[in-house]
Amino acid sequence: MTVGRFAPSPSGRIHLGNILCCLLAWLSARKKEGKLVLRIEDLDAARCPMRHAEQMIEDLRWLGLDWDEGPGSGGPDGPYFQSQRTALYQAALERLEARDLVYPCFCTRAELHAASAPHRRDAVYPGTCRGLTPAQRAERAVRRSPALRLRVPDKEFSFIDGHVGYYAENLERDCGDFLLRRSDGMFAYQLAVVVDDAAMGMTEVVRGADLLSSTPRQLYLYQLLGLTPPEFFHFPLLLAPDGRRLSKRDADAGLDSLQGQTSAEALLGRLAQLAGFHPSGEPSTAAGLLEEFSWEKVPRKDIRLPERLFE
Ligand SMILES: [Zn+2]
Repeated sequence: MTVGRFAPSPSGRIHLGNILCCLLAWLSARKKEGKLVLRIEDLDAARCPMRHAEQMIEDLRWLGLDWDEGPGSGGPDGPYFQSQRTALYQAALERLEARDLVYPCFCTRAELHAASAPHRRDAVYPGTCRGLTPAQRAERAVRRSPALRLRVPDKEFSFIDGHVGYYAENLERDCGDFLLRRSDGMFAYQLAVVVDDAAMGMTEVVRGADLLSSTPRQLYLYQLLGLTPPEFFHFPLLLAPDGRRLSKRDADAGLDSLQGQTSAEALLGRLAQLAGFHPSGEPSTAAGLLEEFSWEKVPRKDIRLPERLFE
């Protein structure tokens, strides 16, 4: 059985990018008569107060995108808030530590910035703390609590994305040893998402193309932890009319602003039109889009929003 998910990070009101993600995840799973899990990715509790999560749940209900397991529905794999699942992440971390794959990193943000080549989009960790001796670690730990990193091999990890096709990265060259836990004790997204998607039985993960390059790291974690990865579908990003990446700062892309202009059906119909599978753009419920939806129709290039979303 297909199991998909919504996994929003509640750092503010839901915006167009989240809505498209949730719509595509819903359609992709429901088209296969699968179920959906709602998981709240609130690892960064300071930026994700509970009222934001509650608002996001209300927003999904307003959009008519339903789920089978998660807050408000219950289910066997809870809790469905990442902030309540840290014991699971700790257990996975300890399994990796037992294999001597984890080491403490004492680098400051400024040091990491200085060490990264300026032309790279994503900084590659140069392995500064990989070879520290126990004495050096002890000496540094007096002054600074370390982050924890996973040693990665000089090896290519590839997969076939359900939407964009073949993708590969050499973990050592393209990424470097990556964070499992930050110096303030917060578990890293990469670890939490793998532990949770496996524990919740996810068979497919639908998310934005900005996370495509995370996937090889996650595949390595799946392999180390002996877990089965889901199928991945990375969809194109929404761009503002001027070509910038759409962000939370674009106030008119937030649902609080959109709700004043339009109905849920009009919004879903318009987004589905922009995403290539609903040419008329007519208002529709999510269920009303099931027949027209297919991944082949969704573009692979970023989607630029028009100046006016609604006439
Ligand atoms: Zn370091």
